[in-house]
Amino acid sequence: MRFTEIDHFSHPHRLLLESAEVPFRCDGCKELGFGLCYQCPYEKCNFHLHKECGNAPPSTSHPFLKRCNFKFYKETPGWRARFCDACGLDIKGFLYQCSHEHAHDLHPCCAELPRSLSSNGEKIYLSNQVRSKCLKCKRKEIANGVKGWSYVSSCGNYCYHVACVKEAIIENWQGGYFQLDVTNELQISGPSQELAGRSGGTSGWRKARKLWLILKLVVSAIFGDPVTLISSLVQALLD
Ligand SMILES: [Zn+2]
Ligand SMILES: [Zn+2]
Ligand SMILES: [Zn+2]
Ligand SMILES: [Zn+2]
Ligand SMILES: [Zn+2]
Ligand SMILES: [Zn+2]
Repeated sequence: MRFTEIDHFSHPHRLLLESAEVPFRCDGCKELGFGLCYQCPYEKCNFHLHKECGNAPPSTSHPFLKRCNFKFYKETPGWRARFCDACGLDIKGFLYQCSHEHAHDLHPCCAELPRSLSSNGEKIYLSNQVRSKCLKCKRKEIANGVKGWSYVSSCGNYCYHVACVKEAIIENWQGGYFQLDVTNELQISGPSQELAGRSGGTSGWRKARKLWLILKLVVSAIFGDPVTLISSLVQALLD
């Protein structure tokens, strides 16, 4: 359930659910965010929370980690650096952690990643099994000894680590050329240049188009709806 206004323990003012004009850094989990989020109406506060972070229940579960009971924490309990089991990135703020000795950790947003998403006849699935190599890093595993989750197309040929997509987007955001280069960055390791360029022809174009559609779905599954942000660029590249 989503509320349009919330009082949150992490901020003294009431927060409103509104669309952020620019990408923001969530003041809860410290991860990047786009679009609809909880914001302090006082501009000088510059305070944002992901919807998932503002509405995080005190405990949760995940179908990929069936035996774990996850509890919400404002910050990592204990002194060890923690990494998110889903995206592999380090945890710098809000998190879920299970009570097992080898504890699992999830960013609140990663705990809520959609299991599947479809549009324009393409469908992607969230997977914790490594079936094929990630098109971005060309590997099956991500760093930090964490396997990490990925999004896989229904045909099984397109696979992207959540970690790799998040990292590419964050790099672009920090580089300040966000709107221009997100899709370029993401396509570097994809087959689109090769397929559309070298092999050419209708089938090459079709495969390149499919890749773009799947990339848009993956970005949108991970970040909510930045698709509006990149779709014009993607469209321009496809035409
Ligand atoms: Zn957050
Ligand atoms: Zn405030
Ligand atoms: Zn556990
Ligand atoms: Zn994560
Ligand atoms: Zn683990
Ligand atoms: Zn990867």
